[in-house]
Amino acid sequence: MRTTLLALAALLASSPALADTLVTNANGVQVDAKGKLERFTGMLIGDDGKVKRLLHGEMLKLSRTKVVDAKGRTVMPGLIDAHGHVMALGFTALQLDLTGTSSLAGLQARLKAYAKANPDSRWILGRGWNQELWPDKRFPTAADIDAIVSDRPVWLGRVDGHAGIANSAAMQAAGFALNTQAPTGGRIEHGLFVDAAMSLIESKIPAPTAAEQDAALIAVQRMMLSNGLTAAADMGTAPDEWSAMERAGKAGTLNVRILSYAGGIAGMRAINGGKPSDWLYGDRLHLGGVKLYADGALGSRGAWLKQPYADKPETRGLQFLTDDQILDQANAAASGGYQLAIHAIGDAANAQVISTYEQLGKKYPGDRRWRIEHFQIADPADIPRLKPAGIIASMQPTHQTSDRLMAEARLGPNRLKGAYAWQTIEKLGVPLAFGSDFPVESPNPFPGLAAAVSRQDMNGQPPGGWIPEERMSFEQALAGFTRGAAYAGFAETRIGSLEPGKWADFIIVDRDVSKVDPQALAHTEVSETWVAGNKVWERASNAARVERGR
Ligand SMILES: [Zn+2]
Repeated sequence: MRTTLLALAALLASSPALADTLVTNANGVQVDAKGKLERFTGMLIGDDGKVKRLLHGEMLKLSRTKVVDAKGRTVMPGLIDAHGHVMALGFTALQLDLTGTSSLAGLQARLKAYAKANPDSRWILGRGWNQELWPDKRFPTAADIDAIVSDRPVWLGRVDGHAGIANSAAMQAAGFALNTQAPTGGRIEHGLFVDAAMSLIESKIPAPTAAEQDAALIAVQRMMLSNGLTAAADMGTAPDEWSAMERAGKAGTLNVRILSYAGGIAGMRAINGGKPSDWLYGDRLHLGGVKLYADGALGSRGAWLKQPYADKPETRGLQFLTDDQILDQANAAASGGYQLAIHAIGDAANAQVISTYEQLGKKYPGDRRWRIEHFQIADPADIPRLKPAGIIASMQPTHQTSDRLMAEARLGPNRLKGAYAWQTIEKLGVPLAFGSDFPVESPNPFPGLAAAVSRQDMNGQPPGGWIPEERMSFEQALAGFTRGAAYAGFAETRIGSLEPGKWADFIIVDRDVSKVDPQALAHTEVSETWVAGNKVWERASNAARVERGR
């Protein structure tokens, strides 16, 4: 009997739906069109993978219908990350993970196992070691790495991304000689490359092959689905990345939905013949926009500010483009029918991008949904300009919790009023979309939901939340990761909620996310992930429980 059930489960998981599917006994939670929490008990899914009907307690008696008993568990729409870097996350997943190694010998053991498991990788890339956690706190040397792998280059980044250790083969590949000088802002010691010196090695790492791209795309899909993400906006797709996504779409191995924004004007011209794409492969891939940059990041003081940095008064950060240049680039994209998504973090950059969009709006009236990516630090006087200009704020709740102390240092106490100001933005009627900026932050959207409602980090800091008046309600936060993210990608008729005509993309989670406190919300675990009415991921521990006869 147990074997039969398992065989049936395997069949259902792998084969496309051939009949309607009825999900019953669900504790369904989603946000309705008015932004209110909607509860449902089940849904009927057509054999086309789309929702036919949402159930609110009524019983359906249907023949020739597969029944999926949710057993009272919480069912919600698949979550959407409105700003991520899909292939970068995939490559991160494929690299050697050295986080938590407690000694050099521990690093060496993991390196040895990884090299053995990946005999074909031309370079071995890893990250995450921290010598401060090792007994003698000594930095590793090239000789330490050569002792384990000497036949091919090895490059292992420190946990903070500000240093890396190379083996001799990597230094040789980089043309390194004993008299090679470290560039300004960098340092080299026995194979340890610090800050600006890191580019000596990193610039020599070969571009990934098509096979490596394909592997990364498989890896990132597993990460997304296991975290409850069924779709993501890919911010800055490169031409070779687009090709990998197309290959997966054609091969039928694309199980998530990717809303692609070409990386810059050059990327735009090189992808899909320089035109936005159709919705491809059952709405699993769409090139609809172009990503541009107006400034850098706050941590490295690259964010462009109206006033000098509080902790470095000689700089206001980096202005990437003049007003004319950014308008020219935006025009090039808008005239081609693309949506625009412009990275702006500092208040000066945000003001420049708002002005750019105000001008574009006159030239391109209609529903253009101009996006600002991050919108982290805004002059409170500029925030009311968003709504009239038709701008969407695409923001990342976990940036707020990760950046809090750094932002206070960079800006000082008196310029935080328009920082990560979600509720102020929401109250002005500006569409909000939430994401993570993975792999900068974890792709897991549940800590993002928790950060949005609490403005506290995973340790509950600070008590009461940082600038607590900017906290979101649970409905608002969930909308940011579902309806809002779909709207920001012109995808709201396809995904973002479970209602007739939209794809049956949903997840089953281990707790009622609408009722738990923020700490518990952050630790929500996904049990199953369904895309277009098919189960595409299931937590292994569930399978183990099934086998034990539960
Ligand atoms: Zn980003």
